[in-house]
Amino acid sequence: MSWFHVSGHVSGADAQPGTAAAASAGGHAIDAPRVGVLAVQGDVAEHLAALRRCGAEAVTVRRVAELDGVDALVLPGGESSAMDRLLRAFELDGPVRERLRRGMPALGSCAGMILLADRLEGAAPGQQTLGGIDVTVRRNGFGRQVDSFETTLQMAGLPGPPLHAVFIRAPQVVQVGAGVQVLATVAVPDAGDRIVAVRQGALLATAFHPEMSGDDRVHRLLVELAREAGARVAGRQRGRHGGRHGGGHGGRHGGGHGDPDVPGRDETKEA
Ligand code: GLN
Repeated sequence: MSWFHVSGHVSGADAQPGTAAAASAGGHAIDAPRVGVLAVQGDVAEHLAALRRCGAEAVTVRRVAELDGVDALVLPGGESSAMDRLLRAFELDGPVRERLRRGMPALGSCAGMILLADRLEGAAPGQQTLGGIDVTVRRNGFGRQVDSFETTLQMAGLPGPPLHAVFIRAPQVVQVGAGVQVLATVAVPDAGDRIVAVRQGALLATAFHPEMSGDDRVHRLLVELAREAGARVAGRQRGRHGGRHGGGHGGRHGGGHGDPDVPGRDETKEA
């Protein structure tokens, strides 16, 4: 469907990957950051393929040890209430929250956007989110009549032509906190602009499915953030252990949860 008039919306600071942050981290380049795709439910394979096209080492994440080894995480589309239940059944909810709090870059698409929202409207009974982005998201925000549609939109921070965007029973962002950048909106006839892509720090969320368009620019942005995060971790570990791979079993981040070297969210982030 193409009756949505679409406009890009740019606000807030530079949405390009933080090259200054990477440089200040010691400049250690990681060619193929390891990026996980949460694989409890949803469209995992498409994200893995997109990440590989962007030069990442893409792995599925179902267990905490797998989470510990990644530089960034994709939360795919699917059914957010089922993903919430499974995250808790796999005892991944707490560890993922902790990594997000420590600054791990992440991309949530559609149901994944719902998982990353601090607040949710239209939740299923008992449904929780992981949180991380200071937004309120409304499930199925485009309504039943407009279940699914495709359009193009201009997304802040993505140079080049408009992005093809596929929406499937998509959520909408209905409220954003002060620290959140609005990256893209779609204009709904008689209903105004609706926010469909946001960023807060290293957390990205889209109401649409960037893995389905064959245009990898959103994934490339995440891989760039992962590369920078990996470089910062490597720099820190080099200082401590003489190398990124020196941590032995259980992932490359050595210290794992509760690592006293890892500052909190409002300090210097995961790195
Ligand atoms: N409507 C779904 C939910 O609430 C999301 C749909 C999707 O991820 N494509 O979880």
